[in-house]
Amino acid sequence: MDKKELKNHIYEAIIIGGGPAGLTAGIYLSRSRINVLLLEKGLPGGQANLTEMIENYPGFPEGILGPELMQQFISQATKFGLEIQNNHVLEITSVKETEKVNFQIKTDSQEYYSRSIVIASGAQASKLDVPGEKEYTGRGVSYCATCDGAFFREKDVVVIGGGDTAIEESLFLTKFARKVYVVHRRDKLRATKILQERALANQKIELIWDSIVTEIIGNDKVEKVKLKNVKNNQGNSLNCQGVFIFTGYTPSYPSLGSFQNKLVNDFGYILTNEDMKTKVEGIFACGDVRAKKLRQVVTACGEGAIAAFSVEKYLESLI
Ligand code: NAP
Repeated sequence: MDKKELKNHIYEAIIIGGGPAGLTAGIYLSRSRINVLLLEKGLPGGQANLTEMIENYPGFPEGILGPELMQQFISQATKFGLEIQNNHVLEITSVKETEKVNFQIKTDSQEYYSRSIVIASGAQASKLDVPGEKEYTGRGVSYCATCDGAFFREKDVVVIGGGDTAIEESLFLTKFARKVYVVHRRDKLRATKILQERALANQKIELIWDSIVTEIIGNDKVEKVKLKNVKNNQGNSLNCQGVFIFTGYTPSYPSLGSFQNKLVNDFGYILTNEDMKTKVEGIFACGDVRAKKLRQVVTACGEGAIAAFSVEKYLESLI
């Protein structure tokens, strides 16, 4: 489509991001026969694609593999006719050239026009920002146990973090590794009790409390990490072949231009009300990109459904 044709092709809604939140919004909107497009820069499914086993999503008493669950979401969405395109959204801007179009969405390859936007672009693994992290990423440093765990059969690995992800992924890594050291900066885990109990009972997991990793050292690949005890400032080192970093997530979304101040809180997350409406009329947000407490597949789905409902009401109000 050339630019003129594109402008004539105005979507009623564009969803940015194809994780559980975006896909659920897509299922609801396409099922309601809204002219909707979902743009995803990577593989639809988002972070859930990187999760080995999801055991707290209702309906699967034995748990379900993250990629398998996401594949089901995609099948369901496309069954209702959701159009999914692989495109990296760079910028959202306001346009008022015709009364039918409100937003322009610029991607790395083309521009789209829409009356409403659902931001469901999720969050990305945080970096540790220590020497060696960047250098050894892909050569021992990883942010995804499901993707890379199998490379560390009978090896020693260090996991950094004390949250649900760190502990869940440490347990997963014990399937492969000889030893899993969990380095946590405090003397208390943030992870939920059931995960804590499992980690503490696992012979392969050793917790290293009150400590941070200050450097990742190797030759061609990771060979050890330098540690510092934050209570007594003593240094130490641990030989290991893998370093898995699970220190939380940073929200990810395109450039929001003049909307930035209205949409985002001090921590960089998108603010909405309980209807998933932002302070900009016509822009909605759902899933991990939102400022909220619980980031789960099930909460992302609920929010995706609410966002879709609000989009429908908004579109009706324009008629
Ligand atoms: P998180 O809960 O924010 O935990 C991050 C962990 O990394 C914390 O223990 C934190 O330490 C530590 N940390 C942060 N920055 C650090 C740094 N620079 N150096 C060293 N340690 C650092 O993140 P998450 O574990 O990825 O979980 C994110 C959300 O997803 C949570 O809401 C979680 O409940 C949810 N989640 C749920 C499940 C599940 O239920 N199955 C699985 C995975 C994730 P402090 O504790 O000292 O802050």
